[in-house]
Amino acid sequence: MLDIKIEKTACPKEKPESSTLGFGKKFSDHMFVMEYKEGEGWKNPRIIPFGNISLSPASTVFHYGAEIFEGMKAYRTPEGKIQLFRPYENAKRMNNSAERICLPEIPEEDFVQALVELVKLEADWVPSEPETSLYLRPFTIANDPFLGVHPATEAIFMIIASPVGSYYKEGLNPVSIMIETEDVRAVRGGTGYAKCGGNYGASLRAGKKAEEKGYSQVLWLDGVERKYIEEVGAMNVMFMVGDEVITPALTGSILPGITRKSCIELLRSRGYKVTERQFSLDELKEACENGTLKEAWGCGTAAVVSPIGKLVIGDETYVINNNEIGAVTQELYDTLTGIQWGKIEDTFGWVYPVV
Ligand SMILES: *Cc1c(COP(=O)(O)O)cnc(C)c1O
Repeated sequence: MLDIKIEKTACPKEKPESSTLGFGKKFSDHMFVMEYKEGEGWKNPRIIPFGNISLSPASTVFHYGAEIFEGMKAYRTPEGKIQLFRPYENAKRMNNSAERICLPEIPEEDFVQALVELVKLEADWVPSEPETSLYLRPFTIANDPFLGVHPATEAIFMIIASPVGSYYKEGLNPVSIMIETEDVRAVRGGTGYAKCGGNYGASLRAGKKAEEKGYSQVLWLDGVERKYIEEVGAMNVMFMVGDEVITPALTGSILPGITRKSCIELLRSRGYKVTERQFSLDELKEACENGTLKEAWGCGTAAVVSPIGKLVIGDETYVINNNEIGAVTQELYDTLTGIQWGKIEDTFGWVYPVV
């Protein structure tokens, strides 16, 4: 149990109109902070007014990128209650990321307690319009004021909160995806399975190229053979081929998404066949050409599921399901969002009530 001190802001901000929210642009009034020192552990857990922080320019995070993060949401139910979705999964993944980047781990109970305390204090910041939520961003940075390349002996853990609007203002429309054949996001043995800032730095150039060509995201191939499908943008990816759902296996270069895990569990509970295995670009092309590729979608916390309508590689374009959302994609979206926003019964024990 953390003994969390709370210092409330003297000047609460005006709550933004939910139509102006977007993603990650506005922040709530408070943030959670605690510091770590080797030999002393985590210290001084507190919730303080949201604001800038001051760090040494020599801080490790600026030079060697030792940073890990999580992304999750607090949801408002129709009864006005607030709930989280599988927060212990985020706690576990945060610690797996920490182990990879040599950052200090946080006891799962403490991680969830910090989230819950912050969300309770910021309850009024959880919007109630359909499909809006309070996005939570826990993160840890290495903070040794010292330029030697060395695992962190000092760190800071923080949680900031951002009210976010509906991801699908114009409805759940399929996106066009560019298959990236030059840059790779991650390699086996690297940091692909860790949620670390560095992975994002490496992904920006391909994302920019896709955007300039008018596509929403890139489809990443594996970093060794450039042959197997890995992820789509910053989401996991699934394909309905015949009557089987195929998703790339977690081989080390893929981020183990909680939405991915939930989709798999949900689909299996409803009798779908779900296979986690390596899935090659050649197999994908063949499934497009012979008509067995029925649906494709990305999945992650921000979008929940995002239908893929077109896959483009060089000058070839493959259209999936007439560029319309498929039945399985829709079923996943409706069920997961239904559970997250408390509109349908959670038979899995996934929701975690806060207030
Ligand atoms: C966070 C993330 C995901 C999705 O994970 P969720 O837990 O479902 O939000 C997928 N891929 C990458 C690269 C990510 O960073």
